[in-house]
Amino acid sequence: FHDRDGFIWMDGKLVPWREAQVHVLTHGLHYGSCVFEGERAYGGVIYKSTEHSARLRTSAELLDFEIPFSVAEIDAAKAAVLKANDQIDAYIRPVAWRGSEMMGVSAQDNTIHLAIASWVWPSYFDPATKMKGIRMDMADYRRPDPATAPSTSKAAGLYMICTISKHRAEKKGYADALMLDWQGRVAECTGANVFFIKDGQVHTPKADCFLDGITRRTVIDLCKKRGFEVIERRIMPEELSSFNECFITGTAAEVTPVSEIGPYRFTPGNMSKVIMEDYSAEVLPKAA
Ligand code: PMP
Repeated sequence: FHDRDGFIWMDGKLVPWREAQVHVLTHGLHYGSCVFEGERAYGGVIYKSTEHSARLRTSAELLDFEIPFSVAEIDAAKAAVLKANDQIDAYIRPVAWRGSEMMGVSAQDNTIHLAIASWVWPSYFDPATKMKGIRMDMADYRRPDPATAPSTSKAAGLYMICTISKHRAEKKGYADALMLDWQGRVAECTGANVFFIKDGQVHTPKADCFLDGITRRTVIDLCKKRGFEVIERRIMPEELSSFNECFITGTAAEVTPVSEIGPYRFTPGNMSKVIMEDYSAEVLPKAA
């Protein structure tokens, strides 16, 4: 991934892709003092760019560091990366971390860095293939108690259990894994939020101990516009048998129907299709 042409914005400058490097004694690498974002540009416009920039700064504050660039500066930097890489439809990855001045748990005086990369990452499937749904495993690890970790931060360290869970699922032939929360309730997937449908109503777990995705909130609004009732509540895994449809949401996943979670089966139907189509229309740049 590091060996390609193009540019990465790093601490205020566009640098050639291969030269965007950090030292091995970087605090962010050793102690997880690192936060990131995942965004998509559609038709040359980054969808909800400012919300993502603000979330990045908030994620860092939750880890007790301040990114030395404002939301407006981060927005401008992301646009500059897209332009430098000559991309219209792309995935954008900002990442901020503590540098290498001090090596130890304490890193009070370490400099804070920000880098932004972008690359082409198309939606994998056409809508018809997507409607078949993906197969998901049940993860062994749970999302941590908010009293245990800054669970609303998009912090690199919180992804350790996601990577382990996703690898275990992939080894068994699944696309992803559903994670429960620390109390055993349905939480989210390893990089996306989850929704269920029954009797024309949309159900999703309350985002009280995991990332309240920007796509999640967008989809909730789109459902309401359609007149679909959305219920945010505690969902126990045993209840999954009562739902007809299931889909996941995220910047990368967009809206992706699910056909299977562990022993439970779902049939992606008309409501999932409508929500998927509404999201595709929503992300396109609006004519001024
Ligand atoms: N949960 C996790 C763990 C994620 O990594 C993501 C992707 N950022 C999401 C949920 C969905 O968030 P968003 O819709 O803001 O991309």
